Amino acid sequence: MQLEIVTIGDELLLGFTIDTNGAHLARELAQVGITVSRRTSVGDGASEIAAAVREALDRSGAVITTGGLGPTSDDMTKPAIAGIFGRAMRLDDTIVERLRLRWKSRGWPGELPESNKQQAQIPEGATILENQHGSAPGIWLEDERGRWVAMLPGVPREMRGMLADVLLPRLVALVDGVPTVVASRTIRTTGISESALSDRIRNLAELDFEGLSLAYLPGWEGVDLRLTSSGLTAEDAAARFARVGGALTAAAADHVYGGGSDDLATTVLDALREARQTIAVAESCTGGMLGMRLTAIAGSSDVVLGGVIAYHNDVKVQQLGVRPQTLQDHGAVSEETAREMAGGARALLGSSVGVGITGIAGPGGGTPDKPVGTVCVAVDLEGDVRSFRASMVGDRHEIRQRGAQAALNLVRRMMAGMA
Ligand code: AMP
Ligand code: MG
Repeated sequence: MQLEIVTIGDELLLGFTIDTNGAHLARELAQVGITVSRRTSVGDGASEIAAAVREALDRSGAVITTGGLGPTSDDMTKPAIAGIFGRAMRLDDTIVERLRLRWKSRGWPGELPESNKQQAQIPEGATILENQHGSAPGIWLEDERGRWVAMLPGVPREMRGMLADVLLPRLVALVDGVPTVVASRTIRTTGISESALSDRIRNLAELDFEGLSLAYLPGWEGVDLRLTSSGLTAEDAAARFARVGGALTAAAADHVYGGGSDDLATTVLDALREARQTIAVAESCTGGMLGMRLTAIAGSSDVVLGGVIAYHNDVKVQQLGVRPQTLQDHGAVSEETAREMAGGARALLGSSVGVGITGIAGPGGGTPDKPVGTVCVAVDLEGDVRSFRASMVGDRHEIRQRGAQAALNLVRRMMAGMA
């Protein structure tokens, strides 16, 4: 089954509210094999809502909306959609009664306000979708041809509750035949660009995607490769993921550090623990981000000894033993300095692995030969020191995140004998 989602609310278009409803619906529907073919967001105007829902119905015949079911004047979803179906609105007495009881049971003063009765207005011939999480009931409206719209409230907590309680069971009953799923498998890579990765994958001449779709998802952690199946049984999907995923993993080779939502810090900690090694960090431009990444993983204390935030040159010299001559000859942002920081951290804290990071996170401080985004990383693994200089893209925060990730990746590569 395919359907479209229309999320309603001016706040979505203004960017004040992120459309988490659309994302949640899509994920939950995928679990029961329903594909979302399009998502649209519109403002609160009745004509915008009607146009968006009419178009979605024309394409797919099945639409879920969220938002605009409340008691106020900006809540136009029901009459707008009733209009598409040529249905009048009528007051539903049982809903009025339920709202009245709810009002009383909450101990709110006075009688149920007139505006709340708006929530009891429903289109002729509609089915009420019970809302046990709030006051606005959901609505199911269907025409003679079996085309339908399910209207859910906008408040995420209510929407999620109703989806689980009433809508998903209803949709599962509609989908007949062998149960299928929309499933995904993610391969996490880092230290390789999206384009280099796609070249490698394109060059897999004999690769058959077996009907799976592939998405490249770049971010500061690296590039995720996500395979998605739809309309397959869970077993069939798993078998194809294994074959196609295996080929992609082989193509991305040493850049693969995990799958699913694996964290590179976890991969690194596991490798260090396995080798009975410990780590200490010396961070300049990342100001503790690498330490944070490592210590964010529960149980890391057997591997992580500690670190120094060596932001000022005096700290690099006095705490880490970086030679003033090195700073003078090569500058604070240099592989030479990073290497001495890494060795200094090891010596100071007595770890087997030391990491040094120094760079220019910006927005100021860049020079022609060391522009903003220049980050130097070094890893000292029991005296075997490797380093590199890289140009990170993004704003200050992202440059720092990318720096910490690149440092973790160098540790990973050295531990695996790949650097
Ligand atoms: P409504 O049912 O349209 O009155 O929406 C009530 C509240 O739910 C809004 O003020 C938003 O904060 C929130 N909301 C509405 N639509 C969404 C959405 N698509 N994603 C996340 N939150 C939403
Ligand atoms: Mg609204």
